Amino acid sequence: MIIGIDDTDSRKGMCTTYLCALLREELSSFAKLISEPILVRLNPTIPYKTRGNASVALLIECDDKERVFRHVTEKISSMACLDNENTNPGVVFVLEDQFDSVRDKLSSFFKCAVKDVITIDEAKELASELNLEYKAFKNGRGLIGALSACGAMLDLEWDYTYEYLAYREKEVWGTRRTVDEKSLFEADRVTYPDTWDTVDLVNNMVVCVPHSGDPVLYGIRGKDASSVKKAASFVVSEPVERVCIYRTNQGTDMHLMHVSLISEIEEMHSYILEGEVSSEPITIRGGHTIFTLKDEAGDVIDCAAFEPTKNFRELVRKLIPGDRVVVYGSVTENTFNIEKIKITELATSYEIHNPQCPSCGKRMKSAGSGQGYRCKKCGTSSDISDKKEIERDVMPGFYEVPPCARRHLAKQLLRFENEVLPVFPGR
Ligand SMILES: [Zn+2]
Repeated sequence: MIIGIDDTDSRKGMCTTYLCALLREELSSFAKLISEPILVRLNPTIPYKTRGNASVALLIECDDKERVFRHVTEKISSMACLDNENTNPGVVFVLEDQFDSVRDKLSSFFKCAVKDVITIDEAKELASELNLEYKAFKNGRGLIGALSACGAMLDLEWDYTYEYLAYREKEVWGTRRTVDEKSLFEADRVTYPDTWDTVDLVNNMVVCVPHSGDPVLYGIRGKDASSVKKAASFVVSEPVERVCIYRTNQGTDMHLMHVSLISEIEEMHSYILEGEVSSEPITIRGGHTIFTLKDEAGDVIDCAAFEPTKNFRELVRKLIPGDRVVVYGSVTENTFNIEKIKITELATSYEIHNPQCPSCGKRMKSAGSGQGYRCKKCGTSSDISDKKEIERDVMPGFYEVPPCARRHLAKQLLRFENEVLPVFPGR
């Protein structure tokens, strides 16, 4: 059977993945664990999400299903942060004889929950319609992620990566984490590009160690289980209570949809949009860099490289009106939040000077607005200004935000194959 769980955590403590790791160990005493657990990230623009909008699914084999239902529900009741108003756990069980009949609906629900905005009622309706055993705690928002994770387990068609999560011993939760930074840089040096986003070389930062009060000590992301395991073997840290390796939709761009017209863009959705830069980028208070992008219909949208994207903003500031780009990212508050940008064509820009006199070689003066130029020395007139092409300090190519600003779902440039333009990883 598949067990999908979501929304057991809060900003202060717990973590749905930790609960999953614990359950795996407990269930293994009376059930057989099949395959690796799944960690899915849903629509990143949903505001009521707990930290990363993550849910999990386990695949097990067990004859005593009642015992599994009871064990898992009791565990969630006792461990979830139920007194937190934003924690609304949900758990869904899909029995093996249901797999074929629910597969299509659950896998499209999963894809929908990554791209779209789904209501709790829609989730409850689907769970009832499919006759699934489930439990919704409090308002039941967690059912959305729980159903999605089950869908991900049933669907074999999606792109995936891996994450190795190391958890802390309970006594130290909420205290400062002890992880040797040098060992993380070494793990990255040895295993990149099979692992990624462990550290941020450009900004000289550790990325894989969270700062919140939850049980996660660090997380290593990469292309397969053996690579993330290898990277973790280099890490020197405080005692690790347990580890768990997840198959995940992180780093896949699963949230993005192609759109050609800005008028078709909806709030809280994520897109790949091509257009022409139509204003000089400006940097506003707070350090956010913004320019407008125009589509083929002439509509415009603000595109932003926010302050946390650090050095990525320097690239964006080099754009000029007329440049052709493709932006990748989410739309909230009418602003396109750029995760990646492909610069496909650079506009030519000129410096305009007063021309030299064709007769005597002296620099001519403007003869007044719209009246061309006139040489003061010999009286020659000319309409032609001295135009000089400015050399651009940027190249066509594919650029991404640095690892320290990466969203869970955003696909790393190193994961793109057969890319025609040069790729400039943000590390
Ligand atoms: Zn002259």
